[in-house]
Amino acid sequence: MLISRNPREAETSRYDAIIIGGGIYGITLALEAGRRGLKILLLEKGDFGEQTSFNSLKIIHGGLRYLQSLDLHRFQESVGERAWFLRHFPDRVYPLPCFMPLYGKGTRTPPVFRIALLANHVLSLKRNKGIRPDRHLPAGQVVGVQKSKEIFPLIDLEGLKGGAIWYDAYMPDSQLLVLDLLLTACNLGATPLNYVQATEILTDSKSHVRGVTALDRENGENHEYYSDLVINAAGPWCRTIVKGIKGTREDLFRPSLAWNVLFKRDALSDHALAVQAKETGSRLFFVTPWKGRIFAGTGHEPWPGEPGRPFPTRGQLSNFIQDLNKAIPGLSLQIDDVDRIFAGLLPTTEVGSNKLTKREVIIDHGTEGGPKGLYSVGGIKFTTARLVAEKILDLAGSGTSGQIDERLKTSSYPEIQYNIQALDQYQQLLARDSSIVHLDDFLLRRTSLWENRDKAMVLAEKLCTLFPWDENRKKQEIGKCATCLKALPDEI
Ligand SMILES: Cc1cc2nc3c(=O)[nH]c(=O)nc-3n(C[C@H](O)[C@H](O)[C@H](O)COP(=O)(O)OP(=O)(O)OC[C@H]3O[C@@H](n4cnc5c(N)ncnc54)[C@H](O)[C@@H]3O)c2cc1C
Repeated sequence: MLISRNPREAETSRYDAIIIGGGIYGITLALEAGRRGLKILLLEKGDFGEQTSFNSLKIIHGGLRYLQSLDLHRFQESVGERAWFLRHFPDRVYPLPCFMPLYGKGTRTPPVFRIALLANHVLSLKRNKGIRPDRHLPAGQVVGVQKSKEIFPLIDLEGLKGGAIWYDAYMPDSQLLVLDLLLTACNLGATPLNYVQATEILTDSKSHVRGVTALDRENGENHEYYSDLVINAAGPWCRTIVKGIKGTREDLFRPSLAWNVLFKRDALSDHALAVQAKETGSRLFFVTPWKGRIFAGTGHEPWPGEPGRPFPTRGQLSNFIQDLNKAIPGLSLQIDDVDRIFAGLLPTTEVGSNKLTKREVIIDHGTEGGPKGLYSVGGIKFTTARLVAEKILDLAGSGTSGQIDERLKTSSYPEIQYNIQALDQYQQLLARDSSIVHLDDFLLRRTSLWENRDKAMVLAEKLCTLFPWDENRKKQEIGKCATCLKALPDEI
C-alpha cells in the first residue's frame, strides 16, 4: 500500500503528535517527526498539498535576494534547505539557471553584481556537498551584451550593460515532490488522512491538549483522535483553527493574495528571467521556462476577509499582464493567452497590506496563556518548511534533531503516464493509494496529467469506470475536474 486512508481505524491509536494541515508545512512536520521516532497523525481537510503548496512558483530559493538586505541568517537557511532538497530528492528538484538584464541603474550594474555573485558563491561554498554531480549549482557570473542577447533573445537592448547569471533550484512537478515527502513520512510511520477536517481542539481540565475532534468529509462521520501534542499547520486557515483559543497572537497569518500565471506561449529562454520595466516603482517579475512555457510571477495584492478560494480579479490580472508586457517589450501577452492561474494566500505584516512577512511565525500557545501542547505555525516559503518543522519539534521538546541520521531513506510516488488503452496501470494505483478519493486527486496531485486539459478530460471519463460510483457521482466528479482544469475560474 502506498497511502492508506482509514479514519475509523485511526481512532484506535494514540499519537505522539497530531498535525493539522496537509500542505508542505504539515507534511514536512510529519516527516521530521517520523525521523525522530514519533507516531504521527496528519489531518487534511481536502487533498494533500492542494492549496497554497500547489500554487507556488516552484522555486527552491537559495536566497540571493536576502544578500541584498544583508539578511545572512535567512540566506544561510535557504541555501541549506535548497541543498537538502537537491540531496534527497534529485529526481524532483533540478538546477535552475537564472538571468537578470543589467541596465546600470541603482545596484543593477555589472560591478555590483560581480561582488554580489562572488559573495553568493563564497557564502554558499558547501552548497553542493553530498549532492549528485548533475545537480550541482555552479557559481554565478556577469556576462556581456552579446551573451545576454543569446540567453534572452527578446531582451531590451537600449541601455543594456550586460546580464547576471546565477543558479537556484526548481521543482517542475512540485505536487509530486509533495507526494514523495508524504510517502517518505508514511514509511517513517505517519498516518495521513485526507478529507478529514479538524473541527475542535480538545483540552483537559488543566488546560493541556488531549487531541482533536474531526469530521470525515466523505461520509459525515465524526471522530476523536488523541495526543498530548497538536500542531496547527493549516496555512491560511491556521487562525480559524485556534479562533477563540487563548494564546493566539495577532501576527499569526494575516493573509494577502499572491499569484503566478502560466501562459500558452513558448518559454522565452532556458533561464528563468528576472525582469522589470524601466519606470521607477515598476514590479519585478520572475519568468520561468516551466516545461517549455512562460510561467510568470508573482502578483501580490491585499486580501480582505477569510481565506476562501483566492484568485485575482480580472482587473488585477489585466494589470499584471500589462506590466509584464512593459517589462518585456515585444511580448504582447493577452488575457486569452492564460493557461492557468496559480493563486494562494501568503502572510503579511499587517491586515490589508501586501507586504510579506519576512519570517515564519511559530506560537507555543501554552506559553502565551493558552493550552499546553498546542503549537501554531504560519509559514512563508515552501523552501524552508522542513527547517521550520525542525524548529517546532525542538520547541515542543519532541526528540532531538542532533540524533537524526542524515541519510534519509526517501520514497518516491510512482510515475503514471497518459495511456488511455492501459487502464490497468490506473487501476493498480487506485488499489495501492486509497487516499485517491476524487478524480481531481488523481489528475492534479498524483500525476501531471492535468497539464494537458483535453487529454485529462478524456481520461476523466474513462477513470470514472474504475470507481464504484453511480451516474450522478460520475457527473459531479467530471464537473469538478472541468472546473479545476479551467484556464480562468468563473469568478474572474
Ligand atoms: C503564488 C505563490 C507563489 C509562491 N512561490 C513560492 C516559491 O517559488 N518558492 C517557495 O519556497 N515558496 C513559494 N510560495 C510560498 C509557499 O507556497 C507557501 O509558503 C507554502 O506552500 C505554504 O504551505 P502550508 O502548508 O503552510 O499551506 P497550505 O499548502 O495551504 O496547506 C495548509 C493545509 O491545511 C489544510 N487545512 C486547513 N484547515 C484545516 C482543518 N481544519 N483540518 C485539516 N486541514 C486543514 C488546507 O486544506 C491546506 O491543504 C508561494 C506562494 C504563493 C501563493
